[in-house]
Amino acid sequence: MMFALSRGTITPWQIVALLPVLALATYWAWGEGALVGLAALLPPAVLAYGLVLRRTAPLSASDQVTQRLDWTLSDIAAKGGATGCLVIQFDNAAHLVDRVGRTRQCEVLAASIARLRGALRPGDMLYPMEDGSLAVALGATPRLDAEIMVRIAARLQLVAQQPVSLADGPTQVSCSIGFCHAQQLRHPGGRALLDAAQIAAEEAARHLPGAIRGYSDELARARADRDALRAGFSQAVDRGEIQAWFQPQLSTDSGEVSGLEALVRWQHPERGLLAPGSFLPAIEGSELMELLGQTMLAQACAALDELDRCGLRVPTVAVNFSAQELRDPQLADRLRWTLDRFKLAPSRLTVEVLESVVAGDGDEVIAANISRIAAMGCGVDLDDFGTGNASITAIRRFALNRLKIDRSFVSGVDVNRDQEKLVTAILSLAERLGLETLAEGVETPAEHALLAQLGCGHVQGYVVAKPMPVGDLVRWLTAHRDRQRAAIRIGVRAR
Ligand code: C2E
Ligand code: CA
Ligand code: CA
Repeated sequence: MMFALSRGTITPWQIVALLPVLALATYWAWGEGALVGLAALLPPAVLAYGLVLRRTAPLSASDQVTQRLDWTLSDIAAKGGATGCLVIQFDNAAHLVDRVGRTRQCEVLAASIARLRGALRPGDMLYPMEDGSLAVALGATPRLDAEIMVRIAARLQLVAQQPVSLADGPTQVSCSIGFCHAQQLRHPGGRALLDAAQIAAEEAARHLPGAIRGYSDELARARADRDALRAGFSQAVDRGEIQAWFQPQLSTDSGEVSGLEALVRWQHPERGLLAPGSFLPAIEGSELMELLGQTMLAQACAALDELDRCGLRVPTVAVNFSAQELRDPQLADRLRWTLDRFKLAPSRLTVEVLESVVAGDGDEVIAANISRIAAMGCGVDLDDFGTGNASITAIRRFALNRLKIDRSFVSGVDVNRDQEKLVTAILSLAERLGLETLAEGVETPAEHALLAQLGCGHVQGYVVAKPMPVGDLVRWLTAHRDRQRAAIRIGVRAR
């Protein structure tokens, strides 16, 4: 049995824990007969006490929304009409906390709540939820459909997004909204309506900023799918199903393998091989991302160690880290410990940071972490360069070694003059900033040749090789080394 309790209340479990002392005291004071009485009366008394506490305990926010919607639904069943639920999530809430602390976030939230309450019709109720979102339980209304719900959501969004005046100037917030109306559900109930609006809000939050999404059964299935993947992830790590696959990177000067990128794959027992796109969204934002980072780091170092022992030394392996992991103050230490465990020099590891992570104001903690990692001697690659709108100031502020030019610029570079101009501009920017360059997603020999001619330092893509498990990598590297040696022999003979 679970009891929701306020501070200072004696819990039924505490009474049970005190049972031996109570029994002893009863025996001493009143003898054996009283002890039998206590044994008979205590269990029902504790049970009743628990039930009273449960009834008087304050309702959680979601229980309040559920109760309100249930009440409206039964009203509708009697008199007719419609109802629905909306969930409002502030897109930049984390940013507000990072930059100015929780107090400012609370002030912004309080101002938005006051405004929204003013904008609601009588009968509509707004509830601040435990996770920082807001839920609106609509009162009974004659008619509701998706179009009307979108109009309500857009109106609330407009109100919530107006700048909030704080002591140090106005602050702009943006919010995304999910909604569901009762007719969309096969078995409408308060809890089901709130859950459905939350599912829609999650979907809206995935399409920032300021998205509005309605509930659909398809979204519910996708959420259930994500929940199942999230629930099975740690066990998958333990069972060795989460694997680092490796994609080689070549130097355009020498044709030698200059590095590897570690890319995660899930060898799922029922669904087969899963690419990151199908399970990363399920674990993003949770502590499982850290587990993924540690797993990938350990497997990447183990692979380098194995290749060294096979005489197939590759200079460095790159591991992708999310913003969440890069914010971890222990990251640099963890990298050092893992490198030490495998007796690898820090230069053997490269950290990939997405351009979008360093864009904007950047994050002081991330900047400090990257500086520490770079000072240790690890490489730092700026991933997906050209897509994240990082300013030159931001790029200079972070201790980077190399720009990874995104595939969207590389694709068709040999046939499209505009692409070529863009790549040339990026290469000259990198040169001025003293950074190396790598083009990713290189698919054809013609793209490869032109990139080398334009002065791009390294290439990675299907034209070289697709990502592969470590066993295949050993064979691929051996074959590549043999091809290189044969090419050198032919070159020497031709001279
Ligand atoms: P990314 O870091 O930009 O990785 C490059 C992606 O492009 C990989 O997809 C790779 O398989 C694919 N690719 C490589 N060469 C070519 C090519 O020539 N043509 C095309 N069309 N694609 C190519 P993948 O493995 O599906 O990974 C997708 C994304 O998932 C990665 O993009 C990265 O952002 C993320 N990811 C992968 N592994 C990890 C990881 O261990 N941790 C984290 N945080 N993210 C990861
Ligand atoms: Ca990457
Ligand atoms: Ca990339």
